[in-house]
Amino acid sequence: MRVLVIGSGGREHALAWGIAKSPRLEKLFVTPGNGGTATLAENVALDITDHTAIVDFAREQRVDLVVIGPDAPAVAGLGDDVRAAGLLCFGPSRAAAQLEGSKSFTKRLCDEAGVPTAAYETFEDEPAALDYVRQQQLPIVVKADGLAAGKGVTVADTMEKAEAAVRDCFSGAFGTSGSTVVIEEFLGGEEASLFVLCDGRDIVMLASAQDHKRLGDGDTGPNTGGMGAYSPAPVMSEAMLERTRREIIEPTIRRMAERGTPFTGVLFAGLMIGRDGPKLIEYNVRFGDPECQALVMRLKSDLLELLLATARGELAGVEAEWRPEVALTVVLATRGYPGKVAKGSVIGGCDGLDSDKLQVFHAATARSDGKLVATGGRVLNVTALARTVAEAHARAYAAVERIQWPEGFCRHDIGWRAIAREKG
Ligand code: AMP
Repeated sequence: MRVLVIGSGGREHALAWGIAKSPRLEKLFVTPGNGGTATLAENVALDITDHTAIVDFAREQRVDLVVIGPDAPAVAGLGDDVRAAGLLCFGPSRAAAQLEGSKSFTKRLCDEAGVPTAAYETFEDEPAALDYVRQQQLPIVVKADGLAAGKGVTVADTMEKAEAAVRDCFSGAFGTSGSTVVIEEFLGGEEASLFVLCDGRDIVMLASAQDHKRLGDGDTGPNTGGMGAYSPAPVMSEAMLERTRREIIEPTIRRMAERGTPFTGVLFAGLMIGRDGPKLIEYNVRFGDPECQALVMRLKSDLLELLLATARGELAGVEAEWRPEVALTVVLATRGYPGKVAKGSVIGGCDGLDSDKLQVFHAATARSDGKLVATGGRVLNVTALARTVAEAHARAYAAVERIQWPEGFCRHDIGWRAIAREKG
């Protein structure tokens, strides 16, 4: 198989690493890729918003499967354009990517399919939204409808914050993503993520994970793309997985097919596990970054076979096999992240750390004159496999210690909640 992976983050390095282990792989391309993917694939400098360039490249290189990593190309319809050219693609259609691209779409779908989620109202004008928000209990959640790079959601514990969030959305702080606003009930409980492969009709439950979105130790500071994750999530017991499949995933997949927009690719359900069971917070239409890094380390099955079966609509009867260990990943970022960061700092000690139980996945890195340099905010994902979360934590941080990069930083408590549970 000749495979092209779209993207340049830690998620895409992890996907490329998983695909590269498949005996069926003949040639792997990643576009645009990073300093990590360069070691196991051919990086190709294409503009991933230029769908024609991607399709032309895939045709010229006789690519058998295109794998879409990030959300933006999925929502922009790259999957449709690749399939229209007669090529196999792992990733949703533009219409199905609305599950991530529009929160109001997902809320309506939940209503139609009877999927448990927070009570909500949708608004297209500021005065009505403000009026409504003032009548609600605190805390209250205000969301820009469209993609907002993870910044469009405000969990407001005061009315001032809630009103400011509504005004931000309508004043264009998130561009057109904020011209529709969803205001929803605050859900209590423990958050977890679940990843499921879907071929439009059949599903394969992959695994659960939990991430750390806040910048600082103790889950403090600003929100980020994610500073670390581990898999599985202890809160997702077999019984909870089964309920989530029955009450949330299957009704969603069924309804998407009924409305003529079958979902294919990987469905990433953001869940709140409360006293009365799982509720859907949101869907994403791609693997989580950094959750994917933890997931692929645990996967025993051939990743390429799974992605292919998904793209071909052949998931019926397929099962994914997992290693018995847990995986934990620590994100190393350039100082200043999630704000502006300087590029070009040199990272030492990174090569040679990899083993059966440890992988350093790269995000914003490049190789320049034989050196590894940082090219952005989130830079490395040190990912460890071990019997317990506490051991995976220890193994990952021992590797972090060996990386020489004064311009970088990380959180020191990834996995704290699961480790506390393990200690009982
Ligand atoms: P989203 O982008 O919809 O996942 O929201 C980002 C984060 O906001 C989630 O991971 C939750 O921590 C929080 N959040 C979103 N919606 C709710 C809700 N209804 N209740 C409580 N927390 C929420």
